[in-house]
Amino acid sequence: MNNIFVYIEIEEGKIADVSLELLTKARSLAKTLNCKVEAIAIGSNIAGIETTLAQYGAEVVHIADDKELAPYRTLPHTAIVCGVFEQEKPQIALFGASSVGRDLGPRVSSALHSGLTADCTSLEIGDHTTKDKEYKDLLYQIRPAFGGNIIATIINPDCRPQMATVREGVMRMERVASPAKAEVKIIDFKKFLKDSDFAVKIISREIEHRKINIKGASVVVAGGYGMGSKEGFEQLHKLAEVLGGEVGASRAAVDSGFAEHARQVGQTGTTVRPKLYIACGISGQIQHTAGMDGSAMIIAINNDADAPIHKLADYSIVGDVNEVVEKMIKYYKENTK
Ligand code: FAD
Repeated sequence: MNNIFVYIEIEEGKIADVSLELLTKARSLAKTLNCKVEAIAIGSNIAGIETTLAQYGAEVVHIADDKELAPYRTLPHTAIVCGVFEQEKPQIALFGASSVGRDLGPRVSSALHSGLTADCTSLEIGDHTTKDKEYKDLLYQIRPAFGGNIIATIINPDCRPQMATVREGVMRMERVASPAKAEVKIIDFKKFLKDSDFAVKIISREIEHRKINIKGASVVVAGGYGMGSKEGFEQLHKLAEVLGGEVGASRAAVDSGFAEHARQVGQTGTTVRPKLYIACGISGQIQHTAGMDGSAMIIAINNDADAPIHKLADYSIVGDVNEVVEKMIKYYKENTK
């Protein structure tokens, strides 16, 4: 049985969270398929990277290490990934739906004449039967389609690898309980490259580090259109501050200018899994809940008792959000030292 490959994204020497999330997912897929998880890491000064990757489930790590290979450039990375895939023939290949993965994944799939499903929200293994053929153990590439109105399960029965991208935060990241040492395979990458792959020269780079980090927050106080205004959001900032959390927002709130886009939670925003998610004046449409339904505890505050968010919530407060949030701030301050 051919193996599952995960492309490892490395930025300034750090492995992207999405790659570790994909290794975690690949591990459970590989268990079902009874195959191995392999990682492909391309960069500069990355010797020893296999130790971290093994902690998340990589059993084999293919490494191309050269100063010309970092930072990421489209053509050399595409050539190396295609070269390795042609040699190793993975049955599944996973990439982050990051700017790198969105650039690299489609190029690799196009060069190898496979298919790729972008922005999957779930990956499973299953069978498929047509009137003249039975397919076993396919990758179900699951994602919202038609504006989120349906959840589509997409399969690629005939071409390999079956490829998918997944956004950061969508899958859980979990270490292996007792990791084994990963086998290292040094990629003889020069044989895959031509001079023209280095036609693009990087003259300078400026990386904007995001100040807003809703993904890493253990408490997210999120506001929706029901907050009514940017000023309404100020209350959420106060509540987030007393709870040691971050402020999130629905798309309707972002589109209305109540909050910055970096705070948007959902299908076209960030996926969060905090310990506590407080949804304030948010109706709970699927495109929003897709980005927060993995939260450990959800409190919904909404003046409409029939709002869909209440079905998902562990605790529901039916009432005016401005009054409720004000009381929460007051009582929380009074009851904590
Ligand atoms: P509304 O649906 O308008 O809900 C406002 C809620 O506030 C209502 O339930 C109302 O009862 C309540 N309310 C009003 N006043 C008060 C008050 N005083 N006190 C208490 N409650 C009050 N949405 C996202 O959030 N994230 C995404 O990433 C996203 N991606 C999308 C992608 C696509 C392709 C599409 C088509 C849509 C997407 N959407 C996304 C939009 C989504 O469908 C909803 O329109 C959006 O989530 C609604 O935001 P909301 O709940 O804040 O607003």
